[in-house]
Amino acid sequence: MKDKRFYDFLHRQIPVLMVLSLFPGLGYLFLGWLNDIFMPAFVWYLLVIAVALWGYRLYRILDFDAMGESRRDHWYRQCSWFVYAFFLLWTLIFLLYVGQDAYKLHYIAIFTEIGAAVVASSLLASDRRLYRPTIFILMVPLIIYFLFIGEWYGYVLTIFACTLTWVLLYAATSSHNLLMQAYHQATHDSLTAIYNRQYFIEHLQTRMNSLSESGEFAYLLLIDLDHFKTVNDSLGHDIGDHLLQDVVARLQQQTPAGAVLARLGGDEFIITGGDFAGRAACEQAALELSANLIARLKEIYVVAKHHLYISASIGVSIISRRGANAGTFIKEADIAMYEVKAKGRDGVFMFNEEMSARVENRLEIERLLHFALANNEITLHYQPQLDRTGRVVGVEALARWNNASLGSVSPAQFIPIAEQTGLIVELGSHILETAFRTLREWHDQGIELDQFSINLSMRQLTHYDFEAQVDTLAQRHLDAGLCRKLMFEITESIDAEDINQVILVMNRVKQLGIRFSMDDFGTGYSSLSYLNRLPLDEIKIDRAFVCVLGHEKEGQAMVSTILDMAKILKLNVVAEGVETAEQFDFLFRHDCQLFQGYYFAKPLPQDQFLSYYRQRQSG
Ligand code: C2E
Ligand code: MG
Ligand code: MG
Repeated sequence: MKDKRFYDFLHRQIPVLMVLSLFPGLGYLFLGWLNDIFMPAFVWYLLVIAVALWGYRLYRILDFDAMGESRRDHWYRQCSWFVYAFFLLWTLIFLLYVGQDAYKLHYIAIFTEIGAAVVASSLLASDRRLYRPTIFILMVPLIIYFLFIGEWYGYVLTIFACTLTWVLLYAATSSHNLLMQAYHQATHDSLTAIYNRQYFIEHLQTRMNSLSESGEFAYLLLIDLDHFKTVNDSLGHDIGDHLLQDVVARLQQQTPAGAVLARLGGDEFIITGGDFAGRAACEQAALELSANLIARLKEIYVVAKHHLYISASIGVSIISRRGANAGTFIKEADIAMYEVKAKGRDGVFMFNEEMSARVENRLEIERLLHFALANNEITLHYQPQLDRTGRVVGVEALARWNNASLGSVSPAQFIPIAEQTGLIVELGSHILETAFRTLREWHDQGIELDQFSINLSMRQLTHYDFEAQVDTLAQRHLDAGLCRKLMFEITESIDAEDINQVILVMNRVKQLGIRFSMDDFGTGYSSLSYLNRLPLDEIKIDRAFVCVLGHEKEGQAMVSTILDMAKILKLNVVAEGVETAEQFDFLFRHDCQLFQGYYFAKPLPQDQFLSYYRQRQSG
């Protein structure tokens, strides 16, 4: 356990030992003078001063954080020799006094020796390699002395001294074990018995200091299990705990010798290791280790008869620079790990500066988004939807954010952030209110549309207040006829656990006459099963399929299949992202009913949309 605490403890004992030798030492000098052995006592005291000066020097030079591993080892060896020398001097004064005729000196010598042994067993309990030899250095001469008395009481004293030696060793060992136990508890995770966060951060700081001394590189792997919460929530914490223990067993198998594995908390683990001369070799080793870890973790687990599967997301950072603290590298690995999560989990990313810039940009967006509504920075643009005759029969409302310092931010950027931070609820209700009001105003101005589409986030839809909100807004701005024009667009990113609640909400909202559309159809992962279960009225073929029309056979097959299927399921179809005449032709020939895309118009501010609408209707 040679960590910072160990060194600190040893460090603190040095002045105590110095004081314990310099001051009582003066008394022995005086006794020597009284008993005509001043010279040897004086020489002895000079040695005491020399050893004390040595101790003082050792006390001064220890700087745990700044010293590398080898310098610390060197210090520890010196410190051990200092301790041995210190107690050897007490044995020396013992030998000097028992060599005299005066019996009073013998009593003092015996007391000195026993006292020193007690001091050694209590002050040095943290380190076996110190207290064991020291107790022997002190007690063995005493035992021999008693033995050489040659009388019966001498033998009795010998037995007592042996017993005392054993007791001192026993007491020191008990304290030592207790210390070790407390140390273990403070530095290890109780569930998995690997190191905990606190130990890891200290260890990392120490490693970094030695790396900056040697100029070498090490890696840091932050491992987060994917969807572990689902296991905990669905199967209970006992199974979750078991799974974590199994995961740790596998991590331990894969952790290379010399590397350190720790649990940061929950389902997050961290490994640091390696001392590579070059960065490239370090990166490669880290990526190889990550790939092995992921492969091993993904093998099936059997916990209490449940067959479980779990994957992991790993972020890697390389420890190299001087000056940075341990937290910086953990944060970097964390950023890389979140990048993996954002890109669909189950993988590994190496941290780079561009990632950090992106994270900062994201945080800035998040910060400013909080004020966007109050500052009236969110507006709606409207993209026309045309029928087969070229008339504008529908519109999709799309959010726009214009910020003084960020400029115009794409909804593809700020909507996901609003979703993750929960701001989407507030933002979404502002968008709903604006859209409802606009629909009413247009109706009053004689703008007749068949449908008015509004995008919804799942988080917004599943918010407890959503239905009440829609109901209130509908009563405030619309009537039954206008409600039937509303089309709520949802995406396929519905979590399996939420689907029943989503269906419930959709059905209640539909009672107001509002319809639902599946946006970005074909890009999600379980489109067909959703189509069956969700009460949908329309699907929007994703831009990704439309844009390959004309040059990719598979794309064409896909689009015509979707169109055929929609016909069978009696769903309306909107083709999104129509950009060319060729794409439009293909869709037209395959009986698509509604079209939306730059080929006709981009999303437009309200006034421009209205002129576009009028121009189209009259044309
Ligand atoms: P979406 O609902 O699929 O919207 C269509 C996106 O495609 C819009 O991007 C639109 O400008 C763009 N687009 C339309 N026609 C074309 C085309 O011909 N070519 C190309 N290249 N792009 C075209 P936008 O406005 O940037 O919105 C991105 C996404 O942000 C939307 O995808 C939607 O998922 C989300 N979003 C936008 N507004 C809102 C909103 O008010 N609420 C919610 N929850 N999400 C919104
Ligand atoms: Mg949409
Ligand atoms: Mg779309």
